[in-house]
Amino acid sequence: MTTIPILFMGLLALPSPWLARRFGRHGVLLVFLMLLFVSMSARTFAPNVSMPLLTTAGEGAGIAMAGTRHSACNLHNGTLNGDEIVNAFIKLRKQSGVLSSLLLVSIAMTASFPLASMATFAETVSQPSPGKDAVPDDYFHTGAGARYLRRADADLVVEPLRGNITVLMGSGGNITVLSGKEGKFLVDAGIIKSQEKVQAALDKISPAPMKYMVNTHWHWDHTDGNAWMHAAGATIVAQKNTLRHLTETTHVNAWNWTFDPVPAGARPTLIVDNKKTFIFDGTRIEVENFGRGHTDGDLWIYCKQADVLALGDTFWNGFYPYIDNEDGGDINGAIEWANKAVAVTTDHTIVIPGHGAVGTRAQLIEFRDMLVAVRNNVTALKKQGKSLDEIIAAKPTAAFDAKWGNFVFNGSQFTKMVYDGLQ
Ligand SMILES: [Zn+2]
Repeated sequence: MTTIPILFMGLLALPSPWLARRFGRHGVLLVFLMLLFVSMSARTFAPNVSMPLLTTAGEGAGIAMAGTRHSACNLHNGTLNGDEIVNAFIKLRKQSGVLSSLLLVSIAMTASFPLASMATFAETVSQPSPGKDAVPDDYFHTGAGARYLRRADADLVVEPLRGNITVLMGSGGNITVLSGKEGKFLVDAGIIKSQEKVQAALDKISPAPMKYMVNTHWHWDHTDGNAWMHAAGATIVAQKNTLRHLTETTHVNAWNWTFDPVPAGARPTLIVDNKKTFIFDGTRIEVENFGRGHTDGDLWIYCKQADVLALGDTFWNGFYPYIDNEDGGDINGAIEWANKAVAVTTDHTIVIPGHGAVGTRAQLIEFRDMLVAVRNNVTALKKQGKSLDEIIAAKPTAAFDAKWGNFVFNGSQFTKMVYDGLQ
């Protein structure tokens, strides 16, 4: 890049003595001032100009900007009338006193610097090339996965609830642990990056071995730890569509990422279609699917005696949720799941979300009401024939953004998710 300023300085300085002989000292000054003006105009009207190419034409008076990548710059190309400029120079020469050639060269050098730096800058902005600092825009570099990986650097938050149930937060989605004499029954596996921290937290709860681990759905932040938990003794339980997603190559456009099939040891082996009841350590655990929701393979886990309901990602406490439209989820299904959860809970129930703090039925209702309101707003705008961009611009989430739009997704992103689910 440094060759460009030098080239410009040379180009501008070289013809100075000739121009001075031909048109007088002030003529040269005028030439450089005009060059400066033309270049600045080119920068204004053609911001992606690559490099102004300087030419002299005819009797040495024609100046044109050429060789740009932007058509707007052609406004300057050849539109300067050579005869007019010659006349101006002659007039100036008659009126001028004497300026030293040294001064002219100095002016030429001074004028060349902004020209050269503009050309350099213009080349930079016109040719964005991925440098070593460029970050790809995908799930694990800029998306939710990157967020969970960063969060896993910090300590887990361990929150004991009632009935020997504990929640571990900070390893992807929330992990729920029911610990008894018979062993441990877990909900979700978190991410493998925090394996040691999760293992340490489990050991601290009790020495009882892992017996079961239920995946609430297939997403990475809930299943990445499957392999080590299985190796540690857990039977992996999941809905049949979760098994399918984990067994197939799954590309998610919204995340710009393709997930490979997980190894055999990370795959669920105890499959739930609609419902399965476990009697574990003397308590009743109901594992259930209600069709499309956050994905097409969600399960909720309800510990009856303790009255604790783990909802996976069908509940995000205080945040706009992700809805995986590409893998069987949609907004109406998400609302149905929330309605089912509201119906089965009371004010006594502890409601564990996939993301966010341990919640209450009141918070679940607030979540459900937000989903319904946004769905209705987007539907109404869609019925008016508005496009997705127009609907986003109309801000159908405006009343909710301050409270719900501060985690992974903002109002615009959630609006798109809702809209996509209404197709
Ligand atoms: Zn999820």
